Amino acid sequence: MATRTRPATIPITEIEHAAFCKTEDELPAKSLAEELAVNVRWQNISPEYLHLAPEELDERIHDARRQLGSAVTVLGHHYQREEVIKYADFQGDSFLLSQEAANLPHAEYILFCGVHFMAETACILCAPHQKVILPNITAGCSMADMAPMEDVEDGWQDLQDILGDHGGIVPVTYMNSIAGIKALCGRNDGAVCTSSNATAVLEWGFQQGERILFLPDQHLGRNTALKLGIPLDKMVVWNPFKRLGGNTPEQLRDAKMVLWQGHCSVHTRFTVKQIQAARERFPDVNVLVHPECTMETVQAADMNGSTEFIRKTINEAPAGSKWAVGTEISLVNRLAINNPDKTVFCLDPVICPCSTMYRIHPAYVLWVLEGLLAGQVINQITVPEQIQRDAQVALDRMLALR
Ligand code: SF4
Repeated sequence: MATRTRPATIPITEIEHAAFCKTEDELPAKSLAEELAVNVRWQNISPEYLHLAPEELDERIHDARRQLGSAVTVLGHHYQREEVIKYADFQGDSFLLSQEAANLPHAEYILFCGVHFMAETACILCAPHQKVILPNITAGCSMADMAPMEDVEDGWQDLQDILGDHGGIVPVTYMNSIAGIKALCGRNDGAVCTSSNATAVLEWGFQQGERILFLPDQHLGRNTALKLGIPLDKMVVWNPFKRLGGNTPEQLRDAKMVLWQGHCSVHTRFTVKQIQAARERFPDVNVLVHPECTMETVQAADMNGSTEFIRKTINEAPAGSKWAVGTEISLVNRLAINNPDKTVFCLDPVICPCSTMYRIHPAYVLWVLEGLLAGQVINQITVPEQIQRDAQVALDRMLALR
């Protein structure tokens, strides 16, 4: 049996929530020193950047970008805070942004304002001469961290031993996973999926084999499998801290879906109670949530879909309509600003950003840009060649389904 047993750890996003979750209306722009003062474990940076005021940061970032010209492209994920997203040449979800980077071969440097797995994906999809930079190296994703390579390799070995390696189980990983997991899927006849195409990828997976191991988000896996008509009693959760994920061999043989026990600390904050409260406040409200929310929340909502689906639905909704949204607060706030003729608000009354996305502070953006001006590439993200090749196979399988 390959599975190691060890104690569970609390995701960093949940530890840092306390520092940034607020009941006020907004999170004010602060210097990096003020943000570090709340005891977060972010990347150390040259002291000269710590106390710069927002206006000074803004001026110097614009100046550095002017000097660097088209050699640098800045990509901004929809969940980035306003003070950072304003520098983005392109905004999008993780996959769209990586594709965008690959379409810009003149940009030698891709400054990815997002989290680590996104920068890795950009690195896989970009040309070899392009260098991907993550402004704050500690900007990870707690969901991706819940599926570390050695745990997944152990679990995969156990599943192979019990279910056989010829179509017994097909690995499918959500984009929100480290490159090594994408590569494992590529090597083992599996694929990657996004929240937009998870249904299509699972349908494909069930044509390849009897069961699917879905990583690392149990909620997206469960919600998508339910859409395909797979009953809950054909789904088991794989807890990496227990032998055989906490299952018996019989339970694994009987399952159609093996759901890795991972979750998003941001999307699992949305609850059925919050939906009820929104409906009491506005009886005609539309409740729209992301499928990383729990099954109960997704089922109580009116609609669910990917970040791009949420944006499109609200942007195209009729004037006067009301939207209670269950996704990251920076995106919800931006949707509210861009749709002043509609009522758009976050389901969660507590303002709680993704604390790892929040680690990209403008001071880090300036630090890496001025590093480039000085001939230094700071925080370059690289992926070993073999992992890139295998991960590309899993990504290509997904793309072939479109
Ligand atoms: S919102 Fe959730 S899945 Fe996305 S980066 Fe943050 S922790 Fe990861």
